[in-house]
Amino acid sequence: MNELDSEIMVGLLEKRGLQRVNDENVADLLLFNTCSIRDLAERKVMGKLGRMSREAGARQKIIGVTGCMANAKKESLFRKLPHIDFVLGTNNIHHLNEVLDEVLVSGKQSIRTDDQFTFELDYLAAKRESKIKAFVSIIRGCSKYCTYCVVPYTRGEEVSRHPDSIIEECKQLVDSGYKEITLLGQNVNSYGNDQPDWNCHFHDLLYRIDKIPGMERVRFMTSHPVDITRELMEAIRDLKSLCEFVHFPVQAGSNRILKKMHRMYTVEEYLEKVQMLREIVPGVTLGTDIIVGFPTETEEEFQQTYNILEQIEYTVGFIFAYSARKGTPALRWKDDVLEEVKQDRLQRLMHLQERINAKQQQELLGTELEVLVERQNYKDSQMMKGRARNFHKVIFPGEDSLVGTLQQVRIHSYSHQTLVGEIVKRNAA
Ligand code: SAH
Ligand code: SF4
Repeated sequence: MNELDSEIMVGLLEKRGLQRVNDENVADLLLFNTCSIRDLAERKVMGKLGRMSREAGARQKIIGVTGCMANAKKESLFRKLPHIDFVLGTNNIHHLNEVLDEVLVSGKQSIRTDDQFTFELDYLAAKRESKIKAFVSIIRGCSKYCTYCVVPYTRGEEVSRHPDSIIEECKQLVDSGYKEITLLGQNVNSYGNDQPDWNCHFHDLLYRIDKIPGMERVRFMTSHPVDITRELMEAIRDLKSLCEFVHFPVQAGSNRILKKMHRMYTVEEYLEKVQMLREIVPGVTLGTDIIVGFPTETEEEFQQTYNILEQIEYTVGFIFAYSARKGTPALRWKDDVLEEVKQDRLQRLMHLQERINAKQQQELLGTELEVLVERQNYKDSQMMKGRARNFHKVIFPGEDSLVGTLQQVRIHSYSHQTLVGEIVKRNAA
């Protein structure tokens, strides 16, 4: 979401004639599009901005802080970092050029941090880095209020985007040669719930997008387990463009912790949905997010999370240590799991996930996967890199002209998180 917001801001700035540069020293304007999800993300930005305040060169530039930290910290950012020129929240991206004008004309600091998103954002302005894959926002904000999470406070409540506007953007992307679209939302499954008159649930939207001629691949992120429906599972089974991978975060394996997190499902209900999904879509792969060291989490409760990972065998697991966030309900509980215990639990889960990935990769040896070729592999320019529909990363020998094509690749080995193979029969570029 943050990446897409950056791409939209770049597009808005280019519209007024500015040009993107890759070296901060030659830039006239610096934007820090920030994240507040964990403390470390905030500390990195505060550290960088603090160091810049002591550099003479940086004082000549216009510096803006955008993103979730803008909403979380508001005016206090000016007190801590007097050299920054403007603060622009996640719901005010469309005010970027206006705020920049204010700063340029008045030379004074400017701030816009609305709590709630409105529909004024020009999604079509996004200036994307990739020519192959694109993020498309379908719903902004979140109304789930998990007790640990700042998102409902930094991005506001859920606001769905009109389906016609989404379809228009998807069509434009296909016409410009994009091959894969990832529909974005904090919880894509609640798409349309805030707009009952549209009569368009998430699966309805997917059926419409699938009909766009030339639409190769569609993904979506993220799905709250409570809202994932049988209709969505059937759409994954039936729609040709929709990839068979679902990021479906469980967060924890203990019912007591899930309740305290306000996730609104039990482990049993979660497992039931996974089973239903696997029955309806054979071969589907799953991703998850996990938080270890949530307040009061015991070793036994952590073990239950470990068991869930072992049982489900996710393809992708993002594992985080709990980080207490200002303004969230969880702050009323003491952050009582020691840092070294959190880190130990984190490491144990990461090692387990590595073992699971190695096992899955072993099972894929000798099989053929359809790979969307994205780019040269950074480590070895003779190899191209892409992803299979099930989200596995694949590399294979090839050259630049293959970028943007779909190739059948036979897997012969793997290294770390990456499958290695050979093209079976070349598809024309
Ligand atoms: N809307 C998505 C996730 C958004 S945030 C969802 O609910 O699935 C991405 C992940 O960051 C979350 O899934 C959670 O695992 C993690 N996260 C959020 N707040 C956190 C916190 N305070 N400490 C540690 N991890 C956190
Ligand atoms: Fe945060 Fe929960 Fe909303 Fe995800 S669903 S963004 S974790 S509040």
